[in-house]
Amino acid sequence: MCARCGTRKDLPLGRCPACAHVPAMEERELAIVCSTRVLDAAALQAAQERIRRGEAVRPTEALRARARAILSGRETVLARFTAGQLAALALANIVLTPMLGYAVWFRYRTRPGPAARQALAATIPVSILLFFALLAWRASFLTGAPT
Ligand SMILES: [Zn+2]
Repeated sequence: MCARCGTRKDLPLGRCPACAHVPAMEERELAIVCSTRVLDAAALQAAQERIRRGEAVRPTEALRARARAILSGRETVLARFTAGQLAALALANIVLTPMLGYAVWFRYRTRPGPAARQALAATIPVSILLFFALLAWRASFLTGAPT
């Protein structure tokens, strides 16, 4: 939405079809605030009514910070697994091989967010259990087999 006249537009930093205003410099921050990237539909409508009444839009510092983060590309989507995905991974670790869980961890280890840590949490306990199961199996084989 255009921060000058309140007209809807496709891109927050694009030219306004009504007043031809293009946000420049510090106006870019306000332009991002006045978009669906920061405000929900109701808040956008309220801002539009303010602009059309000729009042200034005064976003909170939190909204401005959010807009700055979006402009600088600092805002990233965090990688996170759902409980269902983690349960499936834990099951695959047990039924197939825990290497699967480590492969998932390897793939997500540089991504921001808890995904890599979650994958390890679903994998390491399974590895330890399987390791001791293997030791127990070997021990029973060595003591139980008559030579
Ligand atoms: Zn405009």
